[in-house]
Amino acid sequence: METLFGDLEEIKDGDSAFFADVILPVPIPKMFTYKIPRNLKEEIGIGFRVIVQFGKKKILTGIIAKVHQKPPTSYEAKPILDVLEAHASVNPIQIRFWAWMAEYYCCHIGEVMNAALPSGLKLSSESKIQLNPTFDADTSPYPLDDREELLLQALRQKEEMSYEDCEVVLGIKSIHGIIKSLVIKEAILVFEEVKEKYNPKVETRIRLNSEISRDKKALEAVFNEVSSKPKQEEILLKYLQEVPVYRNPELNQKGLEKKVLIDAGMSVSSLKNLIKNGVLEEYKIIVSRFEDEQSLEEGVVLSEGQQQAQQEIKAAFEEKNTVLLHGITGSGKTEVYITLIQEALAGGSQVLLLLPEIALTTHIVGRLRQVFGGKMGVYHSKYSDNERVEVWNGVLSGKFSFVVGVRSSIFLPFDSLGLVIVDEEHEISFKQFDPAPRFHARDAAIMLSWLHQAKTLLGTATPSFETFYNARMKKYGYVTLEKRYGDAQLPEYHLADMLVDKKKNLLKLDFTRLMREKIQDALNNQEQVLIFQNRRGYAPYISCEDCGWIPECEHCDVSLTYHQFGEEMRCHYCGFKEKVPHSCPACGSSKLSAVGLGTERIEESLGLLFPEARIARMDLDTTRSKYGYQRILEDFGSGNVDILVGTQMITKGLDFEKVTVVGIMDADRILYFPDFRAGERAFQQLTQVAGRAGRREKRGVVIIQTRRPEQQIFQQIMAGDYKNFYIQEMGERQRFFYPPFVKLLKITTRHKDFKTAEKAAKHLHNLMGDIQVKKILLGPEKGLIGKIKNQYIFESIAKLDRTGNAQSQFKHELLLILEELQAHKEFRGIRFIVDVDPY
Ligand code: ADP
Ligand code: ZN
Ligand code: ZN
Repeated sequence: METLFGDLEEIKDGDSAFFADVILPVPIPKMFTYKIPRNLKEEIGIGFRVIVQFGKKKILTGIIAKVHQKPPTSYEAKPILDVLEAHASVNPIQIRFWAWMAEYYCCHIGEVMNAALPSGLKLSSESKIQLNPTFDADTSPYPLDDREELLLQALRQKEEMSYEDCEVVLGIKSIHGIIKSLVIKEAILVFEEVKEKYNPKVETRIRLNSEISRDKKALEAVFNEVSSKPKQEEILLKYLQEVPVYRNPELNQKGLEKKVLIDAGMSVSSLKNLIKNGVLEEYKIIVSRFEDEQSLEEGVVLSEGQQQAQQEIKAAFEEKNTVLLHGITGSGKTEVYITLIQEALAGGSQVLLLLPEIALTTHIVGRLRQVFGGKMGVYHSKYSDNERVEVWNGVLSGKFSFVVGVRSSIFLPFDSLGLVIVDEEHEISFKQFDPAPRFHARDAAIMLSWLHQAKTLLGTATPSFETFYNARMKKYGYVTLEKRYGDAQLPEYHLADMLVDKKKNLLKLDFTRLMREKIQDALNNQEQVLIFQNRRGYAPYISCEDCGWIPECEHCDVSLTYHQFGEEMRCHYCGFKEKVPHSCPACGSSKLSAVGLGTERIEESLGLLFPEARIARMDLDTTRSKYGYQRILEDFGSGNVDILVGTQMITKGLDFEKVTVVGIMDADRILYFPDFRAGERAFQQLTQVAGRAGRREKRGVVIIQTRRPEQQIFQQIMAGDYKNFYIQEMGERQRFFYPPFVKLLKITTRHKDFKTAEKAAKHLHNLMGDIQVKKILLGPEKGLIGKIKNQYIFESIAKLDRTGNAQSQFKHELLLILEELQAHKEFRGIRFIVDVDPY
């Protein structure tokens, strides 16, 4: 196989030395070369985790990317200190994927590794150790030596110890060998201090002594013995009822969770006695955090349209690696995915389905679980590191041949992907903005798929322009689903002119008459309503009516958003908060008023307009907790809420049968965003949120409030005329050199001092100008927000030719320039950030 690094060369005997290029979790541009000690030669290869020294004192875990015989020219290679496991932790495809990502997104491969590995797999000199809760020295098959014994004793008292603590306890300098040995003997667990410990979920179980379970006579004897002790007898009977050992002695092996007996009210002391007398035994096992759910149904019955789409997708895959499934909202893309996933799994391949974050808590995951049961792993961004490690290991062990997850699930250790599906491929949440790697999971998924020789399916009702462009250029296959499932109709749209209503005095608390009437109708019919406004908080800002003063963040160049809850003003960029002043600090006036419309305020207004309605709100502020989304959606789904107000969170994948009315409070706010993608996003957001209405028999109603109803985009959205909208917008993109006609790179310069930041940005800009490729350079300009968290921000934009090697040439030289600048004394402390495909 051809790799970016070349293959693992065979390690031959002989005198010449062997070296390994190691990826380290530090922001350095290159990999470091270490010497492979003779005794390790046979033990390691690509993807192995090794311990190395970095710098004077630091000990790091790295991953071997390449083995070769070329000593480094500019420094003396240090030896690899140790190998962590007897197997590779990362496979060669993953390493190629990381290398591609670092190169494409202009970052360091160590940064990609950092993003890719759960911290449980990244131990460094800051690592700590703990006792393995399931370890029992008496029953362990591995004898411990004196030093190991000593370390365990110390651990029992201290609960956790750092490497340094261990060195002190044992009075020796190098303890890696001992720690490694204890890990292998399953006596300890290693974890990173910054993150939480790996807490395996441990279950205490009870079973019959195996001698007794296999011998009916012995069992009868036991019953005779306990006949005078009714409590013990009761426990044994309960056990046999739950675990019918009479029928099948094998069942005893798995035993019974102790909790079952305790919950059934059995006597704890009698249980102890039974264990003491050797009738029962107690033991601990590590169990999965995820329920081993069984799939309930096998088959999926596709509608005619779905069936045809499915056939077309398969046919398109014969010729193309990537296919766009353009299916309107409610057309049932999920069911099409399901049949394709089933086929790929049946063929022995792994499958990855990427979803935007919020969609992971909606019905789609439940639906997939019904079909795929325990072989499906779920990878959520709100998972703890422990849970991530379990999914990771589940993929490694083959338990999860199918994973549904958020963008970071592209890093899981797949080794034989056959199909990758990106649902809602247009979603901006697939892009990681900070920190590096600043990747787009859709684009990365296509690359990942290619490395696996797999197929990629992109699904959406509103394709991104990039994807639609690729489909039209025949680079991607193109399949459509043009009807809603089960004859549900697309909703009926109304434009409500806010200015007209205002003149006629019909605009009440920002609601037009039409909007109020339609909401009232829905409430009267016991139906549900979604209200969309893409701004959280109460009001965008507060302003003094007399002098116009507006409170701003001390650390950023933005006004503070007024949150009624807690009577405070918050910065949405840095989290700074402040109490609302009683009077204007500039002129002393007490006439401070909230300007603009946030979700909190809409919630309040709805309460005043529809006092009988039950109202809930879904935005970043109400969904911070792990189950935040889920709770709100469950409440809504079970009919405990009549009206749900929310930000773009409510546009994604919700499928509630009683939603008949969708209201969009202020469409103009979405349209007039200073970004070349404003139109594209407006079309996507409005279509998607409208698509939540009327997904069953009853036709839905969508009300769009605007001050300029004559705009053409509304007609196009209402007619579902994506194609004409696209063609029109693409004219502009081509004329002004925007994607997909060019590649964009954004280069940001940040510093706490304005002048320094500006100077560095200009200097960088000039150097970029000298790069000899076809390009357009814009800037450097103050960022759209000129200061964030006390750092002044300047931005340059490079527009690069898509074809040829302009991109790679530019990126390559840019990195050299940045390396040089960063080494410059004058520019120390400056951060340069490169973002590829930044919007
Ligand atoms: P989309 O993702 O395309 O907007 P969904 O996959 O959410 O649409 O499907 C819309 C609704 O139709 C869902 O409630 C889904 O359960 C139902 N549905 C779609 N296809 C089928 C099918 N073949 N059999 C039964 N129900 C289906
Ligand atoms: Zn004032
Ligand atoms: Zn701020």
